[in-house]
Amino acid sequence: MVTGAGGFIGHHLVKRLKAEGHWVRGVDLKHPEYEDSPADDFRILDLRLWENCLAAARDIDQVYNLAADMGGIGYITAFLAEISKNNILINAHMLEASKQNDVKKFLFSSSACVYAQSKQKSAEVTPLKEEDAYPADPEPGYGWEKLFAEELCRYYYHDYKFETRIARFHNVYGPLGTYDGGREKSPAAISRKVARATDGGEIDIWGDGDQTRSYMYVDDCVEGLIRLMASQHREALNLGTDEMVSINHLVDMICEIAGKKLTKIHDLSKPQGVRGRNSDNTLLRKILGWEPSLPLEKGLAVTYKWIASEVKKKEAAELAVAGD
Ligand code: NAD
Repeated sequence: MVTGAGGFIGHHLVKRLKAEGHWVRGVDLKHPEYEDSPADDFRILDLRLWENCLAAARDIDQVYNLAADMGGIGYITAFLAEISKNNILINAHMLEASKQNDVKKFLFSSSACVYAQSKQKSAEVTPLKEEDAYPADPEPGYGWEKLFAEELCRYYYHDYKFETRIARFHNVYGPLGTYDGGREKSPAAISRKVARATDGGEIDIWGDGDQTRSYMYVDDCVEGLIRLMASQHREALNLGTDEMVSINHLVDMICEIAGKKLTKIHDLSKPQGVRGRNSDNTLLRKILGWEPSLPLEKGLAVTYKWIASEVKKKEAAELAVAGD
């Protein structure tokens, strides 16, 4: 079962599991936005509710728990109580329902937002090793609830020998992901802005653009999830690339792909998150014998092409409505 199967990573994961011949149940509050799910059984359920989790996990061997109330930096800094409450309910109920239904393995999708903020104060940040999440000082709201859900996974193994896996994603991007509406993350938001801009025009950037991140293409993310599920590793594991770029550089890369020259206008009033973040993949390489490898430039080219075509479709539809 994939929870969050109507979302970005969940939908890609369902497609991959189906391609490998598995029977897949998908669960979400909504169907995938941009194409149909190939899941054998797709259920629209609110997983904050215990009865729904109990029913969803029936007759399931493995759970990839990707359902979460989440979004980019604007969204996760605006809604602290709402996000924490929703995700605590989803994760606590899904863990217990999976245990009660004798699920064999449960994978939790955590985030690099669990890392101590004090260790991410410089753009030239030292890549984060798994142990850097402690002493705890995570992102308010979203980071705290992810860190506690990681602990809960460990406690379920400690008390019940219930098998859990924990992936700490570092910024995942790719086609079929949210690119507007307020929940989108930086590669998608920037691609949308570039697609909408006219060559020679302007683009607004959140913060001074010197903040740094690393980005993982969604196919690499899915590969990592499947490998982690198959592994014996019960502790949290980074799942990301260590190709760190500044937001300004990311904008330049997308402009180059689009063949547009744009002037950056930096909006310092907008949230920018931690100053620097990068993944240390030493443990990932050791445990999975693998690491995400698609270069950012290549993944962005595919992603930009998809977002630009979506933007075009939307603009054409808006024009048609205006002409009515
Ligand atoms: P997404 O928002 O596209 O997908 C999450 C899905 O969960 C959505 O379709 C949403 O409808 C569903 N959901 C939310 N509340 C629900 C509820 N009460 N019941 C049932 N479904 C519910 O996000 P994504 O990028 O695919 O992220 C998947 C997972 O990976 C999440 O746990 C997220 O926190 C984690 N993660 C993602 C990134 C990233 O860069 N995309 C980074 C770190 C962690």
